[in-house]
Amino acid sequence: MADPVRPLIAGNWKMNGLRRSAAELRSIMAGAAALAGKADLMICPPATLLAEFAALAANSPVIIGAQDCHPEPSGAFTGDISAEMLADAGAKAVIVGHSERRTLHGESDDLVRRKAEAAHRTGLAAIVCIGETRAEREARETVAVVRRQIDGSLPARATESNLIVAYEPVWAIGSGLTPTPEDVAEIHEFLRQRLTSRYGTAGGRMRLLYGGSVKAANAGALLKVANVNGALVGGASLAASEFLGIAAACR
Ligand code: PGA
Repeated sequence: MADPVRPLIAGNWKMNGLRRSAAELRSIMAGAAALAGKADLMICPPATLLAEFAALAANSPVIIGAQDCHPEPSGAFTGDISAEMLADAGAKAVIVGHSERRTLHGESDDLVRRKAEAAHRTGLAAIVCIGETRAEREARETVAVVRRQIDGSLPARATESNLIVAYEPVWAIGSGLTPTPEDVAEIHEFLRQRLTSRYGTAGGRMRLLYGGSVKAANAGALLKVANVNGALVGGASLAASEFLGIAAACR
């Protein structure tokens, strides 16, 4: 992936999108030129669309990523998709440890770390998601939870190009609620310290994304927070105009 200090606006389409959704990708590609390199743009469609989207976006600034991978390269794992397969389909990155996977599929920090290692094994960047639940926040456990997740979910070795961390408070995902910029600043500063103590200079340059109910209307305030190097966007990434509006809010 290109310049690690440039913000990254990544769209996670989750289980949304059919072949006709290529029209939305085309609109995002068309709008990307006007952003004049303000941000790197990534779209993570469902696996069924990866190869087609990667081919469509091949000569555009839009990067295509995937939403999950299996830690093993191949084998008897019905329904799973390996990092090697994602790379073969044209993906350049993969989201791992999204809270929907952690909650709905019972994924542990250890499994998430193995998935991130699988991504690196095959040359993909890993976007590792962490974040506290509402109950954990109310119990004032946010820092302890993200510390445990970051320590357990990140690979031992990583570079500023192949590791991206997304802080996504679970209660902010799809809810229309967001933490205050002050709260985001506090957590991102904590995460930056952990990354730097773990990976040295590279940790100082790794991108830290904020995710959870980001839209064009609140992106400016969230993206200007110190140590916020972009956003992981769910619902608002499904419409090109809204997604481009978020990217346009980058400094
Ligand atoms: P949201 O989802 O933007 O719809 O809140 C974010 C995410 O789950 O990555």
